[in-house]
Amino acid sequence: AGSDAGAGAGATATAPPPPAAADGETFQFQAEVSRVMKLIINSLYSNKEIFARELVSNASDACDKKRFLSLTDGGAASETDFFIRVKADGDAKTITIEDNGIGMTKQELIANLGSIATSGTAKFAEALGESAKTDDVTLIGQFGVGFYAAFLVADHVTVVSRSATAASSPTYTWTSDSESSYTISEGDGGVPLEGDSGTRITLHVKSGSMELLENHRLGDLLRRYSEFIAFPIYAWETST
Ligand code: ADP
Ligand code: MG
Repeated sequence: AGSDAGAGAGATATAPPPPAAADGETFQFQAEVSRVMKLIINSLYSNKEIFARELVSNASDACDKKRFLSLTDGGAASETDFFIRVKADGDAKTITIEDNGIGMTKQELIANLGSIATSGTAKFAEALGESAKTDDVTLIGQFGVGFYAAFLVADHVTVVSRSATAASSPTYTWTSDSESSYTISEGDGGVPLEGDSGTRITLHVKSGSMELLENHRLGDLLRRYSEFIAFPIYAWETST
């Protein structure tokens, strides 16, 4: 474990940050999920940029849900109270998408990112096969499996989330680097979320997709795919 000398402002550097997923609980993906992940990876590879559209649209949905929650609570959150931050880090070889939307509890991480509610894999596979020449990229949106497009460009995905609906719900870290299993552990892996609630998805970019970290690639993708997103999207890139 590396130390972070000089990082703490005034604090004594005694306790190291908690490990990200060292003592996490391991879960198997529902078989349906493993199949969908394989299908997506194998058939949509040439359209891998759609990961940006899917993850930004999920972030936007999450902000919508929280805005609705604040309205029903008597609040009046506006679009500008929300953000979607997208960052490419050339040194870490990561792309991060963070929102301050509704977030997820542990049970929601399991239900939403580990299983597929509607059993549509067969239809999905069939539709993918039939649409070979048409627009198969719209299919993953239709079948509610957009999150798994993350695995088109990443071989390791980390999701840090805190729910707005359960006040006492801690932050959880979901992580997966395979088609068969994922782990969930408590904590934010040492990097707090920026909002009171929300989700940060970190994509550890695959060796075949490093060009996504190059100058302005991500910005170009976001302009292309995020035309109709109501919330402010901030994009930046770092590298040395
Ligand atoms: P869909 O968006 O069509 O439901 P996805 O595979 O894209 O399917 O996402 C699955 C579910 O995971 C979403 O319905 C939502 O409940 C949850 N989810 C994904 N991303 C986020 C996020 N950024 N914040 C909160 N929940 C999310
Ligand atoms: Mg989606």
